[in-house]
Amino acid sequence: MRIRPRTAEEALATYQALRALHPDAHCELDHATPFQLLCATVMSAQTTDVAVNRATPALFAKFPDAATLALADPETDVEPLISMIGMFRQKAKNIVRLAKILIEKHGGEVPKTLAALVELPGVGRKTANVVLGVCFGTPEGVVVDTHVQRISQRLGFTTQDDPSTIEQDLSKLFPREHWDLLSHTLIFHGRRVCDAQRPKCETCTVSAHCPAAGAEASAIGRKPPSSRTKHATTARDVGKTDAKKTSRPASKVAKKNAFVATSAPSPASRRDAFSDPESRRAETTARKPAPLATKPPKRSP
Ligand code: SF4
Repeated sequence: MRIRPRTAEEALATYQALRALHPDAHCELDHATPFQLLCATVMSAQTTDVAVNRATPALFAKFPDAATLALADPETDVEPLISMIGMFRQKAKNIVRLAKILIEKHGGEVPKTLAALVELPGVGRKTANVVLGVCFGTPEGVVVDTHVQRISQRLGFTTQDDPSTIEQDLSKLFPREHWDLLSHTLIFHGRRVCDAQRPKCETCTVSAHCPAAGAEASAIGRKPPSSRTKHATTARDVGKTDAKKTSRPASKVAKKNAFVATSAPSPASRRDAFSDPESRRAETTARKPAPLATKPPKRSP
């Protein structure tokens, strides 16, 4: 199905219908301060917001601000608190280093510009714009995650696949004052109504505005099967895809592929999680297999 790109007027009317459907759309990462949202967003790379929200209460109870986290040891103090999320070792290092830099260069405060934010470990353009939009109301772009990408394609906001090009299309279609809520609203819609595989078109109140509404909607905005395997971001994702090929239970394949999943992040998440050279070096080192233990030779009696 080919979707006709929407005009700015059509896009705004669609957005208003989406806002009416999700008036409570907001960032779903729990936080009390910009610093906590920055840490939570760094930790959310390749992990669900729900998983991050399980980890952050204990983390922020012990380390509520940059001053306390900067003094923490990533391995002994932070890792045990966030070990339930993916790539927790790297993320523990990133947030402690990030806290140190905030103390050294920014007086312990979260900087308010994209340029300064993306200098921090684990922070890419997407993470920076989440913080700028939610905490300061000054996003310098539209956050494009997998939901924003898919829904934008279905609603005709873009005909592109590349997140940075989609961001440009959205930035042209919508006035800046909508950028922050636009992405939260699209994410809400993607999580609750416009599922990747089973969009609820029959009950979707935006369907009158949606050129993709109907039986073929699920074919739009999903990555092709080969790409889904290549960019699968969790062990479960990889397991699901591989399970189809091998007819083995997804859980078993996922377990087997756990290493593949942790070493094949999506390009966008990878930029955020490993955006600095030191992190990349640490990742490479972490991937090296441990030397095999050699058994002592048996002695004859
Ligand atoms: S009508 Fe269907 S495809 Fe369109 S936004 Fe609603 S759920 Fe998604």
